[in-house]
Amino acid sequence: MNHTCPWCTSKNTHLHLMLKDYFLTQEPFEIVQCDDCGLLFTIPRPAPDAMVRYYKSEVYFSHRENNRGFIPRVYESVKSINMRHKVALATSGLSRGKLLDIGCGVGDFIHSVECAGWQCVGIEPSADAITIAQQRVHAEILSLVDLSSLDDGMFDVITMWHVLEHVDDLHSEIVQLHRLLKPGGRLVVAVPNYCSYDADYYQDRWAAYDVPRHLNHFSKRVLFSILQSSGFVFDSFDKLQWDAFYISYMSEKSVGHSLPLVRGFFTGLRSNLKARKTGEWSSLVYVFHREK
Ligand SMILES: [Zn+2]
Repeated sequence: MNHTCPWCTSKNTHLHLMLKDYFLTQEPFEIVQCDDCGLLFTIPRPAPDAMVRYYKSEVYFSHRENNRGFIPRVYESVKSINMRHKVALATSGLSRGKLLDIGCGVGDFIHSVECAGWQCVGIEPSADAITIAQQRVHAEILSLVDLSSLDDGMFDVITMWHVLEHVDDLHSEIVQLHRLLKPGGRLVVAVPNYCSYDADYYQDRWAAYDVPRHLNHFSKRVLFSILQSSGFVFDSFDKLQWDAFYISYMSEKSVGHSLPLVRGFFTGLRSNLKARKTGEWSSLVYVFHREK
């Protein structure tokens, strides 16, 4: 059956992978590739209101929020080390201004940006996360529906850390980003890279496919094409090299191998060593600006 690409609406598509929601429901899904723009997309795409049950899980909640145990603690430590790097990517070379963090979770990034003297607004779909974030930061934390009520051109910077892969309607989301940024304003987007070594190595078990929570899957070519055709100018890209270790570890756990930490570490290391030559890091951060 031919599917329609959610970005370019082409019907020239082919099956890329058959896989399951290995993390939670074990339900089967497909990842289909658009032959014209290269986007990989998840089929079927649960309607936004049906998506709730793929997140509504104590397993997921503990995966995201529980800091007990060795691996979550290491991951949290690495995240805090990375935070300075993320703040620099978002704000370097700019005078203090206003930043919108879409998918702000419990407000870790906003907290760091506020410490650097920026004024922030957060957008977050999870009511539980909003409640926690509101206790931690000065920023106003809004729900997804509030995005369209924010004023045109009110932000100097918009950040989306591992969010665009979750977005159901890419077109309207990107129109909103363009509308909300000042002309010349900075857009920072981090997404997993399906051209990375760890994606190729784990195939359907690559944890960053994370269907159906991830609806869109990007490569450099796809992301450049989408944003450059939407009024954004590419500035630079950077890597989140710790993601290779975490994603490889999660993939090993999904496969059910023994010693997932050790195996995941060596696959993550291989992925990063290869990416030093190819540039195909497990996760990439893209920095664009809105055309002036
Ligand atoms: Zn397409």
